[in-house]
Amino acid sequence: MKKDTRLVSTGRGDKAAPGMVNVPVYHASTIVFDTVAELNEAISGRDEHVLYYGRRGTPTQWALMDALTELDGGAGCALYGSGLAAITGALLAFVEAGDHVLMADTVYGPSRIFCDHGLKKLGVETTYYDPMIGAGIADLMRDNTKLVFTESPGSLTFEVQDTAAIAAAAKAHGAWVFADNTWATPLFFRPLDHGVDVAIQALTKYVVGHSDVMMGAAVANERAWKRLRLGGFMHGHCAAPDDTYLALRGLRTLGVRLERHQENALKVAHWLDGRPEVHQVLHPAFPDTPGHDFWKRDFSGATGLFSIVLKEGTDDAVAALLDGLDHFKLGFSWGGYESLAIPSDPAQGRTATEWSAPGPLIRFHIGLEDPEDLIADLDEGFRRFAAAL
Ligand SMILES: *Cc1c(COP(=O)(O)O)cnc(C)c1O
Repeated sequence: MKKDTRLVSTGRGDKAAPGMVNVPVYHASTIVFDTVAELNEAISGRDEHVLYYGRRGTPTQWALMDALTELDGGAGCALYGSGLAAITGALLAFVEAGDHVLMADTVYGPSRIFCDHGLKKLGVETTYYDPMIGAGIADLMRDNTKLVFTESPGSLTFEVQDTAAIAAAAKAHGAWVFADNTWATPLFFRPLDHGVDVAIQALTKYVVGHSDVMMGAAVANERAWKRLRLGGFMHGHCAAPDDTYLALRGLRTLGVRLERHQENALKVAHWLDGRPEVHQVLHPAFPDTPGHDFWKRDFSGATGLFSIVLKEGTDDAVAALLDGLDHFKLGFSWGGYESLAIPSDPAQGRTATEWSAPGPLIRFHIGLEDPEDLIADLDEGFRRFAAAL
């Protein structure tokens, strides 16, 4: 089955609501049983798709879990109340006091905060590694290295990792491999196919796609699934029914949206690349972005998020550029239909690698507007930038 067909047909939950195109929203906490025998049956099936208690899921959540499992080619999926909760929840299911974790130096900022504070408090040590380390990760492995975490491309700076080489080295050492795959979604990259055990996504971004729901998911391979599921149940993670419905709805159009995000972002990125003010475009499809060859080898597309590094610039000049934009608002998160921009300093969030750039960095999310309007908007922005320099 091709990807777009899969997106339409997966997780339709036909057993739950015969005839309905969409799985209904089931609001449930208590599930009641008429007999002890029925209760016992539910207890014995509670780890699977058997109605037992609202926190364990209803057909609404199972539909999304099944769909995400299928798209990632995994053995099972756990849902969480946000992307960050998926990261922290999945990590906590696998590590314990005395363990050591290897994290990409370019990882999403809040993941780093969790390692430096949350995991540290539990007696789990984190070492950050150069995202371009590849098979060299073997040299950083310790006897107690339990888990290697990748995020490709890296947050803010878009280095694409050699996931297969890292995963092979980790496996040889007996360590688990996690990937934060929010940027690509399983439509453009399937981490489990490259040796990853747990693929995490902030569904908040492209799956939901409309900037109105927070949710996260982790999909595990056969080896990791029982452990991931147990961790989710133990910590009480679950996803709200209405939000789950919106995530399922978003999923149906993920294919067409991503194609358009990709096309629009490439148009804007190429235009930016030709600007005299721009030192470099950091976008996996650009040959001078570190790891571009891995992107070409492993990914089937690029999404709407990338950065530029300016040749020079002050905070005031960057503010002049961004403040007057009509079609870009300044906001965290991304993956919705709207364009966003945010100034950021990658030097703040890394310890294993150095960030040196001649000027400031701006991260863009290119939405579903007409790219010509976006380009005209940015053109005006550069006029304000020049005037403010
Ligand atoms: C946004 C994001 C997250 C966190 O998702 P939330 O739903 O905002 O908690 C995690 N990883 C990456 C790469 C992200 O961009």
